[in-house]
Amino acid sequence: MLFLQRRTVEETVLSVTSVGSNMSRWKCGIEGCDARFENVENAIIHQTTEHERHECKVCGTIVPEGYFAIRHAFDEHTRAEFVRAYDADSSAVRIREDIKQAIEDVADLNRVVKTLRDEGAL
Ligand SMILES: [Zn+2]
Ligand SMILES: [Zn+2]
Repeated sequence: MLFLQRRTVEETVLSVTSVGSNMSRWKCGIEGCDARFENVENAIIHQTTEHERHECKVCGTIVPEGYFAIRHAFDEHTRAEFVRAYDADSSAVRIREDIKQAIEDVADLNRVVKTLRDEGAL
């Protein structure tokens, strides 16, 4: 079993546990949380609805913790800004870019966003 510890923006985040070649389980890695999910969509919904929001250290925007916080950091800001604001290093950047890519490869983000909007969470 391949276990990739993925840390999000601060200490936090989403981990993916790959089981075999075509099956992944996702683990919420936000501090103190150990929730596991069969699919990444449910993991993101969990992070958005069950956890406190994250305040971006670059611009002060309040974003959901977990995936959306990573997406915000790298879509809205440069790597240099992220490194400076979070006192991060290049491996911290790479880990987050990898998990963002891994999520976007498999997640139906339109469905996630629609579900969250329907619940009033976004
Ligand atoms: Zn969690
Ligand atoms: Zn920001």
